Amino acid sequence: MPAAADFDLLILGGGCAGLSLAMRLAAADYRGRVGIVEPRAEYHDDRSWCFWARDDGRDNNVAPRGLASRRWRQWRFSRHNRTVRECAVPGWSYQYVNSLDFYRQALAAIDACPTMTLMLGETAGEVKSLGGKIHVETADRTLASKQLIDTRPPGRSRLIEAPLYQCFVGREVRLDDHSPNAFEPAAVELMTDMRSDRRGLQFSYVLPFDARRGLVEVTRFSPTPVAAAQLDEEVDELLRRRGWSVAATDRTERGVLPMGLPHPPSHPTPGVVRAGTGGGALRAASGYGFQRIQRWAADCCASLSKGGPALAQARDGARQRFMDGLFLQVIKDRPRLAPTLFERMACGVPGPVFIRFMSDQAGWADSLRVVASLPPAPFLKTLLRLGRSDATPITSP
Ligand SMILES: Cc1cc2nc3c(=O)[nH]c(=O)nc-3n(C[C@H](O)[C@H](O)[C@H](O)COP(=O)(O)OP(=O)(O)OC[C@H]3O[C@@H](n4cnc5c(N)ncnc54)[C@H](O)[C@@H]3O)c2cc1C
Repeated sequence: MPAAADFDLLILGGGCAGLSLAMRLAAADYRGRVGIVEPRAEYHDDRSWCFWARDDGRDNNVAPRGLASRRWRQWRFSRHNRTVRECAVPGWSYQYVNSLDFYRQALAAIDACPTMTLMLGETAGEVKSLGGKIHVETADRTLASKQLIDTRPPGRSRLIEAPLYQCFVGREVRLDDHSPNAFEPAAVELMTDMRSDRRGLQFSYVLPFDARRGLVEVTRFSPTPVAAAQLDEEVDELLRRRGWSVAATDRTERGVLPMGLPHPPSHPTPGVVRAGTGGGALRAASGYGFQRIQRWAADCCASLSKGGPALAQARDGARQRFMDGLFLQVIKDRPRLAPTLFERMACGVPGPVFIRFMSDQAGWADSLRVVASLPPAPFLKTLLRLGRSDATPITSP
């Protein structure tokens, strides 16, 4: 085996977190030698990242500049597709980043940076500390570094700790010219057709790109991962129900996101930190992670650029952990109540508060308004049950 390739910073995983940091380090002219280890040989359009952001671009650290290629100013909720609730907040939109645009921008930034090496087609193995450096084996070589950021997805032993899984299948479709119905391009369907059955909460998520093109997705919150075949059938059923006759499916995206995964303990090896999904980047109550990853990437880049340490994904504050943990537990205990809870929140909370809550920006007053929108009895019962059984709320340490 050749001598260890030496870096100042190694990033394991060239996905959303790894590439977000690499892009920022390249833009900040970071001088250290950076290596990124990524098993895939090439990048495909494998996900659609959405989040709320200000139209004037004043939010810090939301998405690398110019990457949001679509935005919608309205978003909808509905139960069984009755009583559609349409929401909009002046100055804000729900924005979309196409993953292939993101990957291409990141690859171009890395390519233009002589001190950065992206090792595609290589899989990182065990991480060890040896002679004051961190060593990682890949099939081809040993890599050594002063600092290491591990953004690899959590393994099975951690995934089973998630109390709920957000399972979804989305298809980017083009509708037939004679389709009985078309998409409504003005509004995203955020959580429509909400219903629950023995598998838990189910809802539709639709990103209309124009009247004939869009991403049509079925999502479930379930205590066990839902089979892809089941979700595929549910997408077929959704298309039929809405009278959307499909001429072509351009691509399919799938996910099983762990919700409420306990925050990982610090890595035992000095100089190693965790980020991305395995570092706790997904919001417990929603599974959203893109914005949280951008904020981490900005903070981590700022620290490294000043000669400081690599930063781990920050842990949520106690209030958010408690609220999200309790909310998830109630949804898990009473899946039939879930559509009511989401509907009550959508209707009972002013739009700006909802956006701040969903984007991790809620203050005390916002949190109280969210709590006041929800029926107290199920939450009190769950709290009492947790108190009696000595169980800890599910996203606590
Ligand atoms: C289909 C989909 C849609 C999503 N949509 C949204 C959304 O709209 N809004 C939102 O906020 N969040 C969304 N998320 C959640 C979250 O933002 C994404 O999952 C995000 O990609 C997480 O970033 P990450 O870097 O942790 O993981 P990834 O982007 O998955 O990157 C992890 C990387 O690690 C690599 N890897 C794996 N094993 C190894 C190894 N042994 N050595 C080295 N590298 C390894 C993988 O190949 C991968 O590239 C979505 C998730 C999915 C799956």
